[in-house]
Amino acid sequence: MKKKCPRCSNDEYEVPDFTQQEKRVLSGLKANNKLGELIEKLESLYDIRSIDAKFSLMHINKKYGKCNRCKVDYLEEEYVLCPKCNALNFNWSIDN
Ligand SMILES: [Zn+2]
Ligand SMILES: [Zn+2]
Repeated sequence: MKKKCPRCSNDEYEVPDFTQQEKRVLSGLKANNKLGELIEKLESLYDIRSIDAKFSLMHINKKYGKCNRCKVDYLEEEYVLCPKCNALNFNWSIDN
Protein backbone atom coordinates (compact mmCIF):
# COMPACT_ATOMS: atom_id res chain seq x y z
CA MET A 1 0.00 0.00 0.00
CA LYS A 2 1.07 3.59 -0.54
CA LYS A 3 1.66 5.77 2.46
CA LYS A 4 2.85 9.27 2.97
CA CYS A 5 4.00 11.33 5.88
CA PRO A 6 3.07 15.01 5.64
CA ARG A 7 5.74 15.75 8.17
CA CYS A 8 8.53 14.36 5.94
CA SER A 9 7.48 15.09 2.37
CA ASN A 10 4.65 15.06 -0.12
CA ASP A 11 5.87 11.88 -1.75
CA GLU A 12 4.19 8.53 -1.37
CA TYR A 13 6.12 5.41 -0.54
CA GLU A 14 5.34 1.75 -0.93
CA VAL A 15 4.78 0.01 2.37
CA PRO A 16 4.62 -3.80 2.20
CA ASP A 17 1.68 -5.61 3.71
CA PHE A 18 3.66 -6.96 6.62
CA THR A 19 2.57 -10.09 8.44
CA GLN A 20 2.09 -10.03 12.18
CA GLN A 21 5.27 -12.05 12.59
CA GLU A 22 7.27 -9.60 10.47
CA LYS A 23 5.85 -6.69 12.42
CA ARG A 24 7.00 -8.32 15.62
CA VAL A 25 10.55 -8.82 14.34
CA LEU A 26 10.82 -5.37 12.77
CA SER A 27 9.43 -3.58 15.84
CA GLY A 28 11.90 -5.44 18.02
CA LEU A 29 14.80 -4.26 15.89
CA LYS A 30 13.51 -0.69 15.93
CA ALA A 31 12.99 -0.71 19.69
CA ASN A 32 16.57 -1.85 20.14
CA ASN A 33 17.93 0.68 17.65
CA LYS A 34 19.27 -2.03 15.38
CA LEU A 35 18.65 0.09 12.33
CA GLY A 36 21.23 -1.54 10.06
CA GLU A 37 19.72 -4.96 10.70
CA LEU A 38 16.25 -3.53 10.26
CA ILE A 39 17.06 -2.18 6.79
CA GLU A 40 18.65 -5.47 5.78
CA LYS A 41 15.61 -7.36 6.99
CA LEU A 42 13.22 -5.10 5.09
CA GLU A 43 15.21 -5.43 1.89
CA SER A 44 15.52 -9.19 2.21
CA LEU A 45 11.81 -9.70 2.87
CA TYR A 46 10.49 -7.48 0.13
CA ASP A 47 11.70 -6.34 -3.22
CA ILE A 48 11.29 -2.66 -2.55
CA ARG A 49 13.38 0.39 -3.36
CA SER A 50 15.81 1.31 -0.62
CA ILE A 51 14.02 4.64 -0.26
CA ASP A 52 10.82 2.72 0.55
CA ALA A 53 12.67 0.55 3.05
CA LYS A 54 14.04 3.68 4.67
CA PHE A 55 10.57 5.19 4.83
CA SER A 56 9.31 2.14 6.72
CA LEU A 57 12.36 2.15 8.96
CA MET A 58 11.79 5.77 9.92
CA HIS A 59 8.10 5.40 10.72
CA ILE A 60 7.91 2.13 12.65
CA ASN A 61 7.09 2.93 16.25
CA LYS A 62 9.35 1.90 19.07
CA LYS A 63 6.45 1.53 21.41
CA TYR A 64 2.75 0.96 20.73
CA GLY A 65 0.75 4.16 21.06
CA LYS A 66 3.75 6.45 21.30
CA CYS A 67 4.47 8.90 18.49
CA ASN A 68 7.90 8.68 16.88
CA ARG A 69 8.37 12.42 16.91
CA CYS A 70 6.65 13.92 19.92
CA LYS A 71 5.27 13.04 23.31
CA VAL A 72 1.84 11.89 22.23
CA ASP A 73 1.29 8.41 23.63
CA TYR A 74 -2.33 7.64 22.88
CA LEU A 75 -2.23 6.63 19.23
CA GLU A 76 -4.73 3.89 18.47
CA GLU A 77 -4.96 3.20 14.77
CA GLU A 78 -2.39 1.20 12.92
CA TYR A 79 -1.12 3.59 10.24
CA VAL A 80 -1.97 6.87 11.84
CA LEU A 81 -1.02 10.51 11.62
CA CYS A 82 -0.17 11.98 14.99
CA PRO A 83 -2.89 14.49 15.97
CA LYS A 84 -0.26 16.83 17.39
CA CYS A 85 2.77 16.79 15.09
CA ASN A 86 1.17 15.24 11.99
CA ALA A 87 3.88 12.61 11.60
CA LEU A 88 2.96 9.21 10.22
CA ASN A 89 3.32 6.37 12.69
CA PHE A 90 3.38 2.64 11.94
CA ASN A 91 1.62 2.00 15.19
CA TRP A 92 1.66 -1.77 15.16
CA SER A 93 0.07 -3.67 17.97
CA ILE A 94 2.31 -6.69 18.42
CA ASP A 95 1.15 -8.10 21.73
CA ASN A 96 -1.30 -10.54 20.25
ZN1 LIG B 1 7.71 11.19 8.53
ZN1 LIG C 1 3.56 13.31 17.23
